[in-house]
Amino acid sequence: MSQPFKLFRLQQLDSQLDQGRGRLREIEATLNDNAAVNQAQQRSSAADEELATARKTLHRTEENVQAQQVKIEQTEAALYGGRVRNPKELQDLQNESAALKRFLDTLEERQLEALIAVEEAELLYKAAAETLSKVTAEDKLLRQQLIAEQRSLQQDIKRLEVERQAATNSISPDDLSLYEKLRQLRRGVAVAKVNVNVCSACGSALSAALLQASRSPNHLARCDSCGRILYAG
Ligand SMILES: [Zn+2]
Repeated sequence: MSQPFKLFRLQQLDSQLDQGRGRLREIEATLNDNAAVNQAQQRSSAADEELATARKTLHRTEENVQAQQVKIEQTEAALYGGRVRNPKELQDLQNESAALKRFLDTLEERQLEALIAVEEAELLYKAAAETLSKVTAEDKLLRQQLIAEQRSLQQDIKRLEVERQAATNSISPDDLSLYEKLRQLRRGVAVAKVNVNVCSACGSALSAALLQASRSPNHLARCDSCGRILYAG
C-alpha cells in the first residue's frame, strides 16, 4: 500500500466520521427542540382558558336575565295584586315595569351574544386541541425515527473509529501530523484525489512534474495551489 493511498484511506474514514458526527449533532439538536409541541400546548391551553371565560360570562348573563325576570314578576304582582290603590303609585309601578322590561331586552341580547361567543370559543378550542394532538403524534414519530438513526450512526461511528485506528498504525508520525494540520486548515479535507490532471479539491491544473510526483508510492506530493496531499488513484 502506497503512502498516499494510506492517507487517502484515512481521509475517507475521517470524512465519513465527520459526516456521521455532524448528523448526530443535528439529531441531538432536533431531539432537544420541543418548540413545536410547546407552542401547540400553549395555544391549546390559551383556547381552553378563553372558553372557560366565555362560559363564565354566559353564566353571568343568564343569571342577570333570571334576576330581571324575578324583578318584573314582583313589580307586576304589586301592580295587579290589588293592594296598591293610589293612582300615582300605580302609575309609578307601571313605569317601573316598563323600564324593567326594556332592560330585560338588553340583558337578553347580552345573553345571546355571550352564547355566540361560547360557540366560537368552543370551535377555536376544538381546532387547537386537534392541532396539538396532530403535532404531538408527528413529534413522537419523528423522535422514534431519529432515535433509531442515532443508534445506527453511533454503531457506524464506533466501527469507523476502530478502522481509523488501524489505518493510522501504518502511517508515519510526520505524515500523520501533516495530515491533521491540513485537515484543520482545509475544512477537514487533507487529501485530494487527482482527477485526470486536476486537483479534485481546489480545481487547479497540476504540472506534469507534480502529476509524476503524485504517483510515487513513498513520497507525498502536495497541490501547488491548496497544499493538500495528492492521491493519484
Ligand atoms: Zn488543490
